[in-house]
Amino acid sequence: MKYSCFAVIILGLIAQWSLALPDTIPIGGLFEASEEAELLAFRHSVNKINSDRSILPKSKLTAKAEIVTKHDSFSVANKVCQLLGMGVAGIFGPSSETTSEDVESICDTMEVPHVETRWDLYQRRGTMLLNLYPHPAALARVYVDLVKAWRWKQFTVIYEDDDGLVRLGELLKIYDPKGYTVTVRQLDQEGNYRYILRKIKRSGETNIVLDCSTEILYEVLKQAQQVGLMASHHNYIITNPDLHTIDLEPFQYGGTNITGVQLIDPDDPLVNATLAEWAETERTGRVRMDESLLTLNITSTTLRVGTALMYDAVQMFGRALHQLDSSQNVRLRALDCNTEGNWEHGFSLINFMRVSEMKGLSGVIHFDNQGFRTNFVLNIVELTEQGLNQIGTWNSSEGLNLTRSHSGSIGSGYITEHMESLQNKTFIILTALSPPYGYLRHSSTKLSGNDRFEGFGIDLIHEISLLLGFNYTFRIQHDGVYGSLNRKTGQWNGMIRELMDYRADLAITDLTITYDREGAADFTMPFMNLGISILYKKPTKEPPSLFSFLSPFSREVWMYMLAAYLGVSILLFFMARISPAEWNNPYPCIEEPDTLENQFSLKNSLWFTIGSLMQQGSEIAPIGVSTRMVAGIWWFFTLIMVSSYTANLAAFLTVESMSTPIKNAEDLAKQNVIKYGAKRDGSTAAFFRDSNYSTYQRMWEFMVNNPDVFTSSNDEGVNRVKNSNGKYAFLMESTSIEYVVERECDVSQVGGLLDAKGYGIAMRKDSSYRNALSAAVLKLQEVGKLYALKVKWWKEKRGGGACRDDASKGSGAASELGLPNVGGVFVVLIGGVALACVIAWLELFWKVAMNSIKNKTPFWSEIKEEIKFVFKCHGSTKPVRKKEDEKEEKSVAEEELGEEVAADIVPLSPYATPYGYVKKERMT
Ligand code: GLU
Repeated sequence: MKYSCFAVIILGLIAQWSLALPDTIPIGGLFEASEEAELLAFRHSVNKINSDRSILPKSKLTAKAEIVTKHDSFSVANKVCQLLGMGVAGIFGPSSETTSEDVESICDTMEVPHVETRWDLYQRRGTMLLNLYPHPAALARVYVDLVKAWRWKQFTVIYEDDDGLVRLGELLKIYDPKGYTVTVRQLDQEGNYRYILRKIKRSGETNIVLDCSTEILYEVLKQAQQVGLMASHHNYIITNPDLHTIDLEPFQYGGTNITGVQLIDPDDPLVNATLAEWAETERTGRVRMDESLLTLNITSTTLRVGTALMYDAVQMFGRALHQLDSSQNVRLRALDCNTEGNWEHGFSLINFMRVSEMKGLSGVIHFDNQGFRTNFVLNIVELTEQGLNQIGTWNSSEGLNLTRSHSGSIGSGYITEHMESLQNKTFIILTALSPPYGYLRHSSTKLSGNDRFEGFGIDLIHEISLLLGFNYTFRIQHDGVYGSLNRKTGQWNGMIRELMDYRADLAITDLTITYDREGAADFTMPFMNLGISILYKKPTKEPPSLFSFLSPFSREVWMYMLAAYLGVSILLFFMARISPAEWNNPYPCIEEPDTLENQFSLKNSLWFTIGSLMQQGSEIAPIGVSTRMVAGIWWFFTLIMVSSYTANLAAFLTVESMSTPIKNAEDLAKQNVIKYGAKRDGSTAAFFRDSNYSTYQRMWEFMVNNPDVFTSSNDEGVNRVKNSNGKYAFLMESTSIEYVVERECDVSQVGGLLDAKGYGIAMRKDSSYRNALSAAVLKLQEVGKLYALKVKWWKEKRGGGACRDDASKGSGAASELGLPNVGGVFVVLIGGVALACVIAWLELFWKVAMNSIKNKTPFWSEIKEEIKFVFKCHGSTKPVRKKEDEKEEKSVAEEELGEEVAADIVPLSPYATPYGYVKKERMT
């Protein structure tokens, strides 16, 4: 048993020895003269297999490299036949399409494995061919995914040759008249690409997919930079996977968004270990290499895809040979191209390669059932100031997987997420010298850069930059125009135009978000809310009117009172006549008088009601129930009226009313004396221009017909209001008015707001950083920073609060009344007294006239006597003037009754009628 076992082992070993691979296995490589790096990798890979006995334990490979010319099919075929004559187990290369096809057909015939590492558009499932380059169809999907992820709705494809166009076929297919706009341009062949690049620049395109060979990539980028197609708003997707091997330093600081794909991960430990091995091998001279190869000095940043794939191809081949060796009795065979014959192990070997999987310099190498490389992983990289930075990966099964998203919703950590993308950006920010949003900073030393400016807008950008981490450079909009659309030409001007023409990235000032502007630019959320109002000179205090004591009651009330007074007086007169109680005995000593007297003559009625209205009363008092009732009601009426009057009078006399000729926009529109205007090409002017409301339309017509009413800045408008002595009103935004009235005490806001809107930070349409900026504005609002900045720039800095004392002066303690407040009362007094004087004289004249008619005495002598008596100024008795026969009667009475008694006797009637005499006491 023991012996039999031993015999089996010996036989097995003999059998194994007899089936083993030959000691040296030649493999052929076809390289063009320029493909030194591939040749080097080919040799290094062979060396690696020979030195690492775990790959191919019992044999060694020998590298048979041949240099071929690019399109020389004949010489390539000869070289291949030579190699086959040497009994090579496989052929690697070449990279040119035409010669490669020749090699493929020979290998197919001879059944010798042919391994390619080139991009081959027409990759097909060849019998003896295996290509390690990722399949073009799979690669094309990466670019489509990137364009979609970057949300490009419009882009230009720049390609070098027809292959490139085919390579991007999938990308071109996404063109859709309603969706994606794709422009295709080919690079000029002469090496001067500026013409085409300038053309692209002029077209305003900012999104570019660039497909060109590694050899010209640097030059194309350089020329793009020269023509100005590499500004911070330009975005590139570079399809060449060797992007990392060119010098990107000149392009990494301009802020251009350059995205690329990498098949080789320069940070992969395997890549670094392999390259270190290469360097070590070259240093120690363990492998015989041409001098030219030794100077190549390949590092992870110069390792091209072709080089890595060549290395990987030989590694795969070595492993497949080992597998083949384990399953078959492999013999090499020298083949002659001129005779029929093939290598019987060729098929098996290529199939072993197809089903095997390994990790190489180009990542995991795996083939699908068609024999195409699949499941490869590409790194998505972005050029930053630090160089290429990985921002995600792409693989054929899962597609794009970005570690940071290009856009998204505002959520927690949203700002942090965008900080990364904005960190290295430097924005050119437009602002205007419009207080308090932007000022030139006062300084005794010469300032430069952003230090030259200060203001609300400058501070706001600074705060946002702290949140998002971007850099910025301020630029002034010198003409101060914010932007309006010329409806005739369809052209924008001002800041909006600057943004559209890529001369600036952001614009901040008192820039209103309007519907029109939203069509041409994007805005952040509003950082301030406002409306249009009127700035006008402060209303002056109205001098109190002379008859301000009448103010407590309106004119109608006074009229009604007068009517009530007359009405009640007449009523009283009539009621007293009706009421029997009002008819009294005029001489109580006569018990049965012949006549009864009524005290409420019309005169007395009027006197009674006026006496009670004036709260003075009179000697007359009603007796009848009805008259007392009228009197009571009248007193009640006067009580309420007088109390109301008194209560209101105090307020009217002390409160000074302000007079302004305009109180609102309607008032402005109605008149022509006060001119009014707004800032030229501003949103306020646009509001009136576009309004459908008739008043505003009329106002706009007025402004258009008087173009001098427009100003170039708010400051100019404010100055006009101040200096026009009430002849100009400026239509301005409320926040700016707020700022002005804090500092200019002789102007104020008139009326309310005509509309409601907001200021926002403007940027180009479809800017990727809009959400981030909006989120930052929101954040600053929530933490109260915006409010603090407003207080700082409105109320504190640059003369804020200058008019606060002024405002408080008007209100507060009551001041004493001056003559103007009560002058009217004096006027009434004087008027009343003067009238009384006139009436007194009229009474006298009347009386004298009556007497002179009655007594038939001369009027003028009588009046002279009376006037003389008046101006004698003493004596309270005067003789009654009588006619001559009365005088005689008097003297008879004197004679009869004695002089003393006669002196005490007066005629019964005041007119000294001849009916009798009454003793004086009775009358008193
Ligand atoms: N904020 C205005 C604008 O954005 C400028 C001032 C105005 O028109 O009143 O155009």
